[in-house]
This record gives sequence, structure tokens and C-alpha cells, in this order.
Amino acid sequence: MAIRSGFPGYHVAMLQANEFDGRPGVTDTLGRALRDLRISVTDRCNFRCTYCMPREIFGRDYEFLPRDQVLSFEEIARLARAFVGLGVEKLRITGGEPLVRRDLPDLISMLAGLRSAGGTALDLTLTTNGSALRALARPIADAGLRRVTVSLDSLDDAVFGAMNGIDFPVAKVLDGIAAAQDAGLAPVKVNMVVRRGINETSVLPMAAWARDAGVILRFIEYMDVGHSNGWRLDEVVPARELVEMLSSAWPIEPADPLYRGEVADRWRYADGGGEFGVIASVTQPFCRDCTRARVSADGKVYTCLFAVDGHDARAILRSGATDAELATFVEEIWARRGDRYSELRSAATSRLPKVEMFAMGG
Ligand code: SAM
Ligand code: SF4
Ligand code: SF4
Repeated sequence: MAIRSGFPGYHVAMLQANEFDGRPGVTDTLGRALRDLRISVTDRCNFRCTYCMPREIFGRDYEFLPRDQVLSFEEIARLARAFVGLGVEKLRITGGEPLVRRDLPDLISMLAGLRSAGGTALDLTLTTNGSALRALARPIADAGLRRVTVSLDSLDDAVFGAMNGIDFPVAKVLDGIAAAQDAGLAPVKVNMVVRRGINETSVLPMAAWARDAGVILRFIEYMDVGHSNGWRLDEVVPARELVEMLSSAWPIEPADPLYRGEVADRWRYADGGGEFGVIASVTQPFCRDCTRARVSADGKVYTCLFAVDGHDARAILRSGATDAELATFVEEIWARRGDRYSELRSAATSRLPKVEMFAMGG
């Protein structure tokens, strides 16, 4: 099947169904399709999570990107359209903390109008620390956002405060999650990064709460992103151990992935209490199915969370290039991609130069 891409007149517009998942789109050197794009709309954040932007290193007044270096909404939407024309079906808005970017609903309405290469609506979502959801859940839902993922690492204020670095209260995040549910941004997913010796004791209370609250909890293995968090392997709680913990409290059974390239391994509570997921990027890497690209707030395209450097799309966007030239730029980046950092991870790779996650877009 041949399908025309998002750009009229784009010379490589006839996308073939690929062998990865049988749908139209470009593939990389390992045969992986380009299906997901994570767009960072800011490198700023009001939290200082110890695993991401620790206060001791970045302080309260860290020097963020000057405004003129950050992509405008028009530039983001144009770049997103190029990605969508090459096969992207899912857009995730992230950061930094995306809800601190002014007028974000305007960007959401621009992105919500895009259609995938197959003609279907995009899966448009956002990851947030939840601190501004009470105020913004309704405007972002009205603008066309479909659902949200909220990060929350504990229900205990002391533990959560130690993780978020600014003593932000749990109750405000829970209230933000309720606001998201009321606004129809469902199902709400909740990401919990588990760090040995810091919030392991929060795992079962968080699971019990998520079952009652009707949210899908996903446990994330602590990753060696960036350098500032001083990551150590012995602080990773392996997904296998998390699943054992859960199975000691409730009967659980594995659930099938919903699509190829899904990041979380899904588990179902056998008593009908919903589902949870584990994201085992350290102990069970899933690079062979990784279909994700990232764009940082200053317009660099990254083909791996652990990439050393990005490709400067902002320069192309601001050079007067045509849509077709922009699409070719993205297509060539993906065609050359061979990243599989997590499959090659070792003590030596964790010391390689890397970009901080809040700068690249989580
Ligand atoms: N500020 C938003 C938030 O926290 O949800 C979006 C950006 S944040 C970088 C995206 C996700 O990355 C969050 O769920 C966060 O918990 C996760 N994350 C950050 N650093 C991590 C690390 N070292 N290991 C695993 N997950 C991490
Ligand atoms: Fe901010 Fe999210 Fe990083 Fe925490 S994980 S410091 S909330 S960007
Ligand atoms: Fe994808 Fe890179 Fe993570 Fe592997 S390490 S799953 S290639 S982002």
C-alpha cells in the first residue's frame, strides 16, 4: 500500500507499508519504524527531582535556555507535521515541565489538527509533574489533548519531598490527577520512578491507591540518564522484584502488549482491580522495538534517550527551507539511526557523555 505523506508535493511522499508493523512509514538501519515523537516544550521545571535535575547541581535558579533559542509553537507544529508525514502516530508533549510553558493550549490545538500518514487521528498526550493540572486540565482537554501521564513517586510527603527536591505536597498532585480525570483526560497514567533505599516502601501503598483511584500505575526503573543524578546500578530496583512485590499482595497475571514498541510490560490484577505496568529499561532493554524520536526545546532531534548529540532542526526551520527539505532532513536522520544504548549498557557506557533528560525531553 502506498500512502501520501503530510506534505503536498513532498518528493519521497509515497510511503510503503514496512515490515516492522505493516503500516506506512520510514524505518531505521535496524528495521524500526518511526512511530512516536516526544516534544519538549521547555527545559524549565518547578521541581528539582533528585533523579533528574538535582538541586545541589542545578540550584533553584539554573540558567535555562534563552527564549529566542526555544522553538516557537509554529516551528514545533511544522516540525511535528514533518514527523507525522513520515509515520509518527503518537505525540507526547514533555519537558522540563510542559505546563510551565505559557499558552500551551494553543500548541495543543495546533497539534490536535494533525492526521497520521494512514489518515487517523494522532494519539496526543502529555507527561507532567501534575503541579499545575488543577488549573490547566480543562483548557488542555478542551484544546484537544486526549490523556495525560502524571509523575508521582510516593504518597508519603516526606518521601515525595525527598524525590521532588522542593517538598512539593502529595495532596496537590492527587488533586491535579482528579482534575485531569474530571476533564476526561483518561485513562490517567501515573509514572513512579523507584529508587532503592528511597521510595521502595511506597510501592505497595501506591499500587493500592492506584487500584482505587482508577489510574494505571507504571513503575519505572531508575535510569542512568544524564550525569547529574550520580546514577548507580545498586539503586535500581529491578522490574522482576517489583512484580514479585505486587504478586505477594494481589493475584496478578501478564497482559498482552497493546502494540509493538509499547514501553511498559503490562500486568493485570486477577481480581478485576485494573492493571499496572513496569518499564524495565535497565534490566530488560527494549531497544529492538524502540520507535521513539525526541525533539528538545531548542529544536535538536535525538534518536535515543542516551544520545550524545542531537541534529539541529532549528537551523533548518529558520533557514527558509521548504517543507520537503525539512522532511528529507528528518527522514535521513531516521534512516541512519542505529541506537540501542540500553542493550549495550555497562559501567563504561554510563560514563559516556550524555544529555540531561530535562534538556532532551523525557
Ligand atoms: N516534568 C514532567 C514529569 O516529571 O512528568 C515531564 C518530564 S520528565 C523528564 C519525564 C519522565 O521522566 C517523568 O515521569 C520522570 O519521572 C522520568 N524520569 C526522569 N528522570 C528519570 C530517571 N533518571 N530514571 C527514570 N525515569 C526518569
Ligand atoms: Fe522536573 Fe519532571 Fe525532571 Fe522532576 S522529572 S525535575 S518534574 S522535568
Ligand atoms: Fe530507545 Fe535508546 Fe532507550 Fe534503546 S536506549 S529503548 S534505543 S531510547
